[in-house]
Amino acid sequence: MTTIKTSNLGFPRIGLNREWKKALEAYWKGSTDKDTFLKQIDELFLSAVKTQIDQQIDVVPVSDFTQYDHVLDTAVSFNWIPKRFRHLTDATDTYFAIARGIKDAVSSEMTKWFNTNYHYIVPEYDESIEFRLTRNKQLEDYRRIKQEYGVETKPVIVGPYTFVTLAKGYEPSEAKAIQKRLVPLYVQLLKELEEEGVKWVQIDEPALVTASAEDVRGAKELFENITSELSSLNVLLQTYFDSVDAYEELISYPVQGIGLDFVHDKGRNLEQLKTHGFPTDKVLAAGVIDGRNIWKADLEERLDAVLDILSIAKVEELWIQPSSSLLHVPVAKHPDEHLEKDLLNGLSYAKEKLAELTALKEGLVSGKAAISEQIQQAKTDIQALKQFATGANSEQKKELEQLADKDFKRPIPFEERLALQNKSLGLPLLPTTTIGSFPQSAEVRSARQKWRKNEWSDEQYQNFINAETKRWIDIQEELELDVLVHGEFERTDMVEYFGEKLAGFAFTKYAWVQSYGSRCVRPPVIYGDVEFIEPMTVKDTVYAQSLTSKHVKGMLTGPVTILNWSFPRNDISRKEIAFQIGLALRKEVKALEDAGIQIIQVDEPALREGLPLKTQDWDEYLTWAAEAFRLTTSSVKNETQIHTHMCYSNFEDIVDTINDLDADVITIEHSRSHGGFLDYLREHPYLKGLGLGVYDIHSPRVPSTEEMYNIIVDALAVCPTDRFWVNPDCGLKTRQQEETVAALKNMVEAAKQARAQQTQLV
Ligand code: GLN
Ligand code: ZN
Repeated sequence: MTTIKTSNLGFPRIGLNREWKKALEAYWKGSTDKDTFLKQIDELFLSAVKTQIDQQIDVVPVSDFTQYDHVLDTAVSFNWIPKRFRHLTDATDTYFAIARGIKDAVSSEMTKWFNTNYHYIVPEYDESIEFRLTRNKQLEDYRRIKQEYGVETKPVIVGPYTFVTLAKGYEPSEAKAIQKRLVPLYVQLLKELEEEGVKWVQIDEPALVTASAEDVRGAKELFENITSELSSLNVLLQTYFDSVDAYEELISYPVQGIGLDFVHDKGRNLEQLKTHGFPTDKVLAAGVIDGRNIWKADLEERLDAVLDILSIAKVEELWIQPSSSLLHVPVAKHPDEHLEKDLLNGLSYAKEKLAELTALKEGLVSGKAAISEQIQQAKTDIQALKQFATGANSEQKKELEQLADKDFKRPIPFEERLALQNKSLGLPLLPTTTIGSFPQSAEVRSARQKWRKNEWSDEQYQNFINAETKRWIDIQEELELDVLVHGEFERTDMVEYFGEKLAGFAFTKYAWVQSYGSRCVRPPVIYGDVEFIEPMTVKDTVYAQSLTSKHVKGMLTGPVTILNWSFPRNDISRKEIAFQIGLALRKEVKALEDAGIQIIQVDEPALREGLPLKTQDWDEYLTWAAEAFRLTTSSVKNETQIHTHMCYSNFEDIVDTINDLDADVITIEHSRSHGGFLDYLREHPYLKGLGLGVYDIHSPRVPSTEEMYNIIVDALAVCPTDRFWVNPDCGLKTRQQEETVAALKNMVEAAKQARAQQTQLV
């Protein structure tokens, strides 16, 4: 008989009303003192744990909770303090200084946590670090909960392989040695837990899912060295976000339990389980409830899935748990959330997911009949949501079914289009443009607030937007930019703006998730068929166009970016959703074109971050991602110029896809890439229209004409002149007017000088 337990890997830190964010920001501002702050954080920690205990989770994690980021916690515990912060004496000050920077010392870099939208602080290695355990947060947290609630918990820590993989500041060849140097620290930390009587520790090694067989073997040695020092403490080696290729190696690790993700693994873990079995004396911690999406689980289907796993893995003990930490979903349904009932009932956030696990356990222990009511309820809710979500527009279904190859392809190749576009657009050599947005000033934001609060009528608001648009069209003309934009003053966020105007999207008031530090986002919810309702950008674009004889670019967010920055439904594939969005946007593109707009930009800044973790899965994703983009953009006339924009420069790894988008022009971030990308282009020329950002928009600094001129000239050494564009790195919405105008003035001057020089050459 297998013992069944429920377990959790991590819980959102932010609190139901983002109390965590408020506590942090008040402390940073200096409006609360340190003692008050620490007390608030402690209360939030207690309450997060309490929620999990109340949901009857048997194995509750601690130390997933943090004051900022769990990777930073690990680094600081190991005394990995970057040199520039070592003069600080107070531990809390040092911690936040690394995360946020101080005068004279920039913060550590922040980057995406695997393929999620959570960002962690990148640990910085350097030779001068003295490896030393400065704090045992795991032990402190364990004690705190034991003292408060009398409950045993499972401390969580990032494992040595993952920690070093995520860090920077060393050569790849040094990785192993650094991991080894960390072993004694892990041993000390774990031994202290053992002495305290802790039963289980969870060591997170998500980086193993992309590790080579050799690395999985190497990491096993680390674990051998660690666990051979322990006697009574049980180690759960936890993987998530995908399967581990070297499965046989993984299950032979000298640990007492192994956690596998059975949701985001494309079925590979079950396959491996079937082929290679699972050691009966180890605990199998099976991730069976999706830790990354927000949808209610079909309990019967999940119960059968667990039974399936159990029929193969004849383990003594099985833990059922979310597929990953619940950090990536909102805390719990908020009592004040007003959504349509059928939608609300179909949702399941962190707290609700734990209840699902508890129900599943009951079903496993006492039989399906024991939870028949919950099973029925889940089915009813899911059914009702499906009903609610299905678009009334049967036309669109037909359109999607009838899509043919020609709908994904512009009728003639790029070179031929270029000739036609050059003729009809009449642009100078090295045309100048911007990426779309102009400063979202305090006035713009306050106007939007007034309108949202109904203090301003639609008309008042539209008049304001128009006036701001006109002001910036005038500025752009004055600057002598070649291709103008309307400025995006009507948009807060590039996904939200479109989501609010398309069918199939819902926006919540309270469903926040942490993005980084105290920063939280509310991703749009794609619950149903995405459909075009009416033109979304035509009015503002056409108005801008009416003010100038120069071309105004239409400005859309692409289908892949909209998808990647939302919570997608899970009853159809991501590809299908991307195609629905693509088809809807295709209608917007047509509406813009019909209204006389000849240049249309479809931004895809999030295309690359949607890449699957395993390179073997890249092709499939990149293929449909490019198709969705082309579905959006290929219906236009040959003379209509399609632009796209992405906010990164090194597109080496996806260059085929970039080409595959078949956009006439791509503008990308470039100014900070220090020529590395030009070296690449020298070897692999890019032959479609290309705009390499000539100035960094992340800083208020105004670059000189000469500086930008040099960037252009360097680029022209490797890029064909007749299709090269001059533009900033990205949109300018976070900048001030003064610096924006000054920088663009220099940019236009730099382009003019480069143009003059080129014409002389000819
Ligand atoms: N058009 C958008 C803007 O200028 C693009 C933003 C982005 O690339 N993230 O703001
Ligand atoms: Zn950008």
